[in-house]
Amino acid sequence: MESIITRFPPSPTGYLHVGGARTALFNWLYAKQNNGKFILRIEDTDTVRSTQASVDAIFEAMEWLELDWDEGPFFQSQRFDLYREYLQRLLNSGDAYYCTCTPEEVDVMRKKAMALGEKPKYDGRCRERGLLKTDNAVIRFKSPLKGTTVVEDVIKGNIVFQNTEQDDFVVCRSDGTPTYNFVVVVDDITMGINTVIRGDDHVMNTPKQILLYRALKAKLPVFGHVPMVLGKDKTRLSKRHGAMSVTAYRDMGYLPDAFINYLVRLGWSHGDQEFFTREELLEKFNLKNIGKSAGVFDLDKLTALNADHIRAATVTQLALKVRPFFKEKGYDVARNDYLEKVVGTLHTRSKTLVEMAEGAHFYYRDTVEPYDEKAAKKFLKPSVVPILTSLAEKLDAIPDLKEKTQEGAFKKVMEEMGLGFGKIAQPVRVALTGTTVSPGIFEIIEVLGRDRVMARLRAAVEFIETTG
Ligand code: GLU
Repeated sequence: MESIITRFPPSPTGYLHVGGARTALFNWLYAKQNNGKFILRIEDTDTVRSTQASVDAIFEAMEWLELDWDEGPFFQSQRFDLYREYLQRLLNSGDAYYCTCTPEEVDVMRKKAMALGEKPKYDGRCRERGLLKTDNAVIRFKSPLKGTTVVEDVIKGNIVFQNTEQDDFVVCRSDGTPTYNFVVVVDDITMGINTVIRGDDHVMNTPKQILLYRALKAKLPVFGHVPMVLGKDKTRLSKRHGAMSVTAYRDMGYLPDAFINYLVRLGWSHGDQEFFTREELLEKFNLKNIGKSAGVFDLDKLTALNADHIRAATVTQLALKVRPFFKEKGYDVARNDYLEKVVGTLHTRSKTLVEMAEGAHFYYRDTVEPYDEKAAKKFLKPSVVPILTSLAEKLDAIPDLKEKTQEGAFKKVMEEMGLGFGKIAQPVRVALTGTTVSPGIFEIIEVLGRDRVMARLRAAVEFIETTG
């Protein structure tokens, strides 16, 4: 069996967006799971709209998603010699011809066709004129005048196009630049692409491309057109629905594996399974189960899935991912063992890495003052001074301040004061973290360590004495 070769060919006219990333992912998964090749091609023939910043943004997003390519990146702007060679082939075989009709003349033809209730199209006037190359001539493809072109789509099934609706489309403009449908076909043929999975916004191009394959006597690839991604209101996903750029999700603290898990589920299913690791996707993904209906992007679902992925990750993996977010907050990340301990306490309670970084604030500050106003008002009152003092004494007497060894100290204070655990833990929590929401109190004490715990308990007592 020939090995699978797929491609992802973004146009660098903006960042990599959610829909594009999903297309890249499907092609990547399919190539990888078949030990095939995944090729990256930058479609930068539109020199006005293509920018280096967009190229960089695409690389950055692919890198974040860990979608590595086996060949490329190829740039269409560097392949014009090849396109010229293939144009010449079409001219030589009589499958293309020069046309000198002006844009105004073509416009009149289009309007005429529309007036007759037909699709707007060029009327084939220069088709048999045998014109030679002149300055303002375009090259048109000689489309068949009858019959049908069938797109055998692995997702949508057969889609039949009437050739009478297809005009002799331009393959090279008068300025010598080849057109989109033509260069895609030349590239796909010469790169050996045998599987084309792309958004269904391209489905109208496919019959044109099939005709070009046939004229160039090349084998057709397998085509699959994936339905668009929609927003919650069922309109095509756009900026109105939130961030479109893939890297914005990185910056919001989503894990790449969670993001690709979510992307894949926006168009593919495996029973009702929602959570997939990358390895599982590589094992289970298939073209057969790509859905016919559009996926709806739902940020809440992505966030829930991200929390699941955070929970499933190891502390070491998470520490690596959260490090840039800690740095951004100005935390000192030099001590990795400390960072891992911090992450260990926040592991199951953060939905995003941003949330984790926010939750780690008290671990990286010398003091937690100023306290959260409401928390201090409610829990740092004169009546808790004996609790804090007594607990400090008892904790200080424990040689090895581990999670387990602290329990006795708390129990003793509870007995002494005749209070339940909550009544003691909450003021201690505010004293140690500045707020009422945090990881478990024993975990915090162990990670903060004796010196900081003592200093913070003392500071809270002082705070109460000076303000209360
Ligand atoms: N460059 C096209 C795009 O960004 C992709 C074309 C294709 O997949 O054939 O939409």
